[in-house]
Amino acid sequence: MLSYKDLNVKIGLEIHQQLATEKKLFCSCKSIEIEKHEHEFFRRLRPTQSELGEYDPAALFEFKKGRIIRYIASNNNSCLVEADEEPPHDLNSEALDIALTIAMLVNSDIVDEVHAMRKIVIDGSNTTGFQRTMLIALGGTIDGVTIQSISLEEDAAKIIDENEKIKSYSLDRLGVPLIEISLEPVTNNAEEVALLALKIGRLLRATKRVARGLGTIRQDVNISIANGNVVEIKGVQRLDQLKDVIEYEVKRQHGLMIIADMLKERIDHLDTVVKDVTSIFIDSKSKIIINAIKSNGNIKAINIKGFAGMLGFEPYQGIRLGKELGEMVRSYGLGGIFHSDELPAYGISEEELNKVREILGTEKEDAIILIAGKNVEDAINAIIKRLEEALKGVPAETRAAKGNVTVYSRPRPGAARMYPETDIAPVVIRKELLEQIRSNLPKGWDEYIDELSSKYNINRIQAEKIFDSEYLNLFERIASTCKNIQPSFIVSLLTESMTSIEREGYDISILTDDKLISIFNIVNEQRIAKESIVDIIKIMINNRCSVDEAIKNLGLESISDAALKTIIEKIIRDNLEIVKEKGDQSFNILMGKAMDKLRGKVDGKKISILIKEKISQYK
Ligand SMILES: [Zn+2]
Repeated sequence: MLSYKDLNVKIGLEIHQQLATEKKLFCSCKSIEIEKHEHEFFRRLRPTQSELGEYDPAALFEFKKGRIIRYIASNNNSCLVEADEEPPHDLNSEALDIALTIAMLVNSDIVDEVHAMRKIVIDGSNTTGFQRTMLIALGGTIDGVTIQSISLEEDAAKIIDENEKIKSYSLDRLGVPLIEISLEPVTNNAEEVALLALKIGRLLRATKRVARGLGTIRQDVNISIANGNVVEIKGVQRLDQLKDVIEYEVKRQHGLMIIADMLKERIDHLDTVVKDVTSIFIDSKSKIIINAIKSNGNIKAINIKGFAGMLGFEPYQGIRLGKELGEMVRSYGLGGIFHSDELPAYGISEEELNKVREILGTEKEDAIILIAGKNVEDAINAIIKRLEEALKGVPAETRAAKGNVTVYSRPRPGAARMYPETDIAPVVIRKELLEQIRSNLPKGWDEYIDELSSKYNINRIQAEKIFDSEYLNLFERIASTCKNIQPSFIVSLLTESMTSIEREGYDISILTDDKLISIFNIVNEQRIAKESIVDIIKIMINNRCSVDEAIKNLGLESISDAALKTIIEKIIRDNLEIVKEKGDQSFNILMGKAMDKLRGKVDGKKISILIKEKISQYK
């Protein structure tokens, strides 16, 4: 078990939460996602020098890939502002209100004037090449952790597809207001950080003015360990994922430190030789190599002094320098690398390898990397730079959360990435506005959960569950209209059942609020039994159909009260002897027989009342 304290692990959380405003941050477009987009346009990004004549390393990295950016858009949720054909309009006052409210809830010092800044964004996710951001407040605390800053920002466009040549984004999300809360780094363990994130999420949700659902709250995490650089991990969307991602990243960074220590015992500086070895592989059995040669690519080999065994060495399972290099070259459009710790393999023979060794002058203690493709020079330079960093330990980079692990995305951007947005006038925060917000502050999440619990007569755990789920508003709507259904049943269906339906592979995202409400309404009218809701949901997802169609499909046509009475009457008559003999004790047997016939069609409670009536009539 790794000791976070011994490793001096520092974890900084950055929470990005979409606000539930009607309009976007700098125009009147609606903050909604849309399925059909009627136009598209293309852009190409170009890096520009800073005032000091330098290029941002991350910007240059993206530019060198030479990709075209494609944007798809709809008039229903985007306009010329999103397309960067028109200057931004005035700041959305509703979004500012919400940001100020949240700042007040955590005792953060609100600025006197809000100034919009441009933060350089180099991946094409903003049509402008920058993201607009405004500092709202500094300081304050959440659950004992100090807040660095609270900012109001515009969300970026959502990536929908990418390949070597084109990256596609939809403009739906671009410009949706977002609050960013950055926390001081903490030395807590992964589980404590996940708990902290949960509490921040609750605080935000308790305002009832933030967006809900997957992707509406995203965490970026900065992680460093002793003597290492800060690694930024982007796009953690779930809390259980947050804990796993932190644990993986700490293990990876410690593994890189172990590798660095071992390398330092062997060599004091990096010594590499690069040679073209294409001629050796003309008749190779390796498909990857032959494909590269056929498409006019080259095979290059790098000799690395003193690295034998170190590219494939695993200080922790799945943590290898070779894997780090492979992930990195993938962002240069290459499939990966071959290295001597795993060769001969993949169709590359010992004989070919020996010829490469000869050309490179490889000695026993050296390692070799083979790389195949067109224009591999940039990738080779990046590999050599990365190997130099391997001697130091953990390089500063931006990584993406993929499942429970992190993968390389790009070098960390330079520090000076902000400059003033001259299209937007500063907004003075008036005292009256602050007083008005202060007198209307929403209650805290703790109080909110208590109220849910007593209002709907559900226990505290259930109240927390529904509060943390994306169905809180829906629950309140259903519980207040469907009086015949126990609120605790609605909670367990919207939390546990929905989670297990999703785990079985059903796409629950297609169940709109209206569809879910229609299911509960039918149960409320006692047309079907609540026990069949899960089956109905599955059919509705699979067949993309309405509740009524799903009910038909399941053969759950409703049974009229008169028909029900006849059926129960018949069951009692058929079992009259048991009723006479056992009296009230015959209930379980009769109930079992009735449920065999009526399961899913009639509510069990209704059946039990009828049976009890009949028993007392006949016993
Ligand atoms: Zn717009």
